[in-house]
Amino acid sequence: MTVTELHARANPLPYYAEQAGECEVFDQAWRAQLPLLIKGPTGCGKTRFVEHMAARLGRPLITVSCHDDLGAADLVGRFLIGQGETVWSDGPLARAVRTGAICYLDEVVEARKDTTVVLHPLADDRRCLPIERTGEQLIAPPGFMLVMSYNPGYQNLLKGLKPSTRQRFVALDLAYPPADTERQIVMNEGRIGADQAAQLVRLAQALRRLTEHDLEETASTRLLVCAARLMAGGLPPPQACRVAIVNALTDDPGTAEALFEVVRAVL
Ligand code: ADP
Repeated sequence: MTVTELHARANPLPYYAEQAGECEVFDQAWRAQLPLLIKGPTGCGKTRFVEHMAARLGRPLITVSCHDDLGAADLVGRFLIGQGETVWSDGPLARAVRTGAICYLDEVVEARKDTTVVLHPLADDRRCLPIERTGEQLIAPPGFMLVMSYNPGYQNLLKGLKPSTRQRFVALDLAYPPADTERQIVMNEGRIGADQAAQLVRLAQALRRLTEHDLEETASTRLLVCAARLMAGGLPPPQACRVAIVNALTDDPGTAEALFEVVRAVL
């Protein structure tokens, strides 16, 4: 399990270019003590958005990257044996509830189904986390917020989220940012000039229009930023795009060649 804790108060505001009013929605959801579900393709800015909002609201952020072996105990906690006695150790979710943090469950559909059982009472107006093993009932303080993200791409169609889970959440749809915003992001994050950033955004748009290849994902903002960073370091643009974008999207040599044709046509 990857758990990162960012104490937002101590950090400067992480850069986030807003797409369409989502900062206000997050802010209002936090004030109204409602949990938030952020949908969107990988690399479109979901994690950065949450980091930005946690810092803006002055809340600590606890992020859990969910995977298929993550179960309820990984979130809530477990007894550990040490020096002849067993001691309770809070998991990231219990820690977030106790400290009034924002708890971000990244790619929540990956987690085992038993995790949703512990999320339900936290995600409705009870706002409580029952810890069966210790008999505690943690009541979330006003600062606590549960945020989850998932990528409704085709690999998740079957997994989905149960209606009983998703109906507890305010849901935001994020997509890849509009061209102007994405150009700004690529300039800022990739540290390249406006012309090169505009080229990369045009390339992304051309790649996103391709539908004849059986790609699981398409060129994300993250991949554009990676290519931009390599270009800023001096790598020739076609090579930067091949290693950062084309090779990240496919392992199939034929598809890679077809994608690289698009790179050649745009750069
Ligand atoms: P996701 O969580 O959706 O997979 P991330 O938030 O990790 O995506 O975004 C990947 C990278 O793309 C970030 O590290 C950042 O460099 C860049 N990025 C994407 N969208 C934005 C945005 N709106 N503002 C600032 N940076 C962004």
